[in-house]
Amino acid sequence: MQLSHRITHLTGGGSDGWDVFYRARAMIAAGEAVTELTIGEHDIRTDPAILAAMDASARGGHTGYAEVPGVAALRDRVAERVQARSGVPTGRGNVLITPGGQAGLFAAHSATCDPGDAALFIDPYYVTYPGTIRGVGARPVPVRTRPEDGFLPRPQDIAARADGAKSLLINTPNNPTGAVYGRDTLEGIAQVCRDRDLWLISDEVYETQVWDGAHLSPRALPGMADRTLVIGSMSKSHAMTGSRCGWIVGPEAAITHLVNLATHTTYGVPGFVQDAALFALEQGEEMEQAIAAPFRRRRALAQEILSRQNVLRLLPPQGAMYLMLDVSATGMDGHDFAAALLDAQRIAVMPGGSFGAAASGHIRVAMTIADAEFAAALERLCAFAAERAREPAV
Ligand code: PLP
Repeated sequence: MQLSHRITHLTGGGSDGWDVFYRARAMIAAGEAVTELTIGEHDIRTDPAILAAMDASARGGHTGYAEVPGVAALRDRVAERVQARSGVPTGRGNVLITPGGQAGLFAAHSATCDPGDAALFIDPYYVTYPGTIRGVGARPVPVRTRPEDGFLPRPQDIAARADGAKSLLINTPNNPTGAVYGRDTLEGIAQVCRDRDLWLISDEVYETQVWDGAHLSPRALPGMADRTLVIGSMSKSHAMTGSRCGWIVGPEAAITHLVNLATHTTYGVPGFVQDAALFALEQGEEMEQAIAAPFRRRRALAQEILSRQNVLRLLPPQGAMYLMLDVSATGMDGHDFAAALLDAQRIAVMPGGSFGAAASGHIRVAMTIADAEFAAALERLCAFAAERAREPAV
């Protein structure tokens, strides 16, 4: 039977550099010792206190259908948090609880784009972005950034691709580059959105992982609250990746329609998960900082190790749990380097090209293993790069 064009063409086709990742997984399954620096998931599990809150909620009976827009107390708590951090007046009616940030990204594009519309996103990008846009029948249009700009988008490049576009998706702090967009960059982006009448979809799931500067939500910029949908999540901030709990914050009219969409798709998020998320948010910044701390530590370790060599160039990691390394001095692109590193050193990293053409001369290293092991792997990675730079592959 024929399936829809939309579903069969959701992914762009081709391996996109994921062959290195799958090869590493196969090696591990076959019993080989591979150091995995690929996926953006904490090396700790969800805090037992959060699990206790989840357990108490479930045993207390919160296992039936939960309110589709989200449990009122959690919507209020998210609204309060967003208002406190951004200064933008935010109430329960501005918040929809979603099964994770990914479902929020899909719903936000569904709410802003009709089939055939262009939807802009910044290259390099989080891997699901193009497929999410195709999934709602829209056309993914990448806006390429440059390593020499620290992969920050230039407003004129966004404007140049904006014909026929309804939305622009940005991500700060950024996966995969670690860039944190400053006020000037965000002002420039906001100007294009206002000039070209674009919705801004702002993926802020790494907002608690900022190492340099501060997180600024573009929803707080003049004229932007009415055209911005913010995507938030408990996944990264509270090590709750498997619980699938996030949110969309936006104008009340948009949220009303998004609640209708949720009624016809997810039918909400389990009540006991929402109660656990509420408990986690009530613990305040201390818990968030404790969860972010290992990445801050490993980033400092990496800066120290990488400062002792000059083959791999580290893009200043201002936020999130990744390092972006320029490997071009080895004579290889990111894909060939990652493949050779896996073969020679049994270290798995992501080729930059898996995140778009703009990062093809790079690799992304996830800082998601214990400090000592992470430092040792980086030392081996640097030694491998130095060797390759001396003896380029023929
Ligand atoms: N956005 C970015 C940039 C991500 O890196 C991720 C996960 O890695 C997500 C969204 C989705 O996160 P979740 O659906 O777990 O909230």
